[in-house]
Amino acid sequence: MYQYSRAIYRSIKNLIDPYVDPETQLEYRRAVLEECEQTMERLAADPHYFARPDRALFADIRRYFPITAQAQVAWAVGEGVGAATSFIEQQIEAGLLDGGVSRCHATTRKGKACQRTPLPGRDYCPSHQHLEQPVAA
Ligand SMILES: [Zn+2]
Repeated sequence: MYQYSRAIYRSIKNLIDPYVDPETQLEYRRAVLEECEQTMERLAADPHYFARPDRALFADIRRYFPITAQAQVAWAVGEGVGAATSFIEQQIEAGLLDGGVSRCHATTRKGKACQRTPLPGRDYCPSHQHLEQPVAA
């Protein structure tokens, strides 16, 4: 996920408040990068329950930017988080990422991945448990 947090950071780092002293500027950059990374980590770990991640990130970092740059920062954050969100959704659909919550491995009759929670320690939900490979004795 770091390619996405880096991309967001790169797109906004030059907008960070230019009127603070160099030391503060450096501190602001570190803080912005850290917030971007935390947002991406949370998004990857909990994509179904992280509502409006772009707004959350913007709210966390907007204080590091001058008023005149806010609209541009909000736009860049929206674009970057949007790209990360669609990447995560593709991964979940492809079954490469379970979205932090395990899902039944079965495919429904409509050809979609089953969204039910598997039985504890199993790969399938109660409706699909017959698909579980029998354990060799
Ligand atoms: Zn199922």
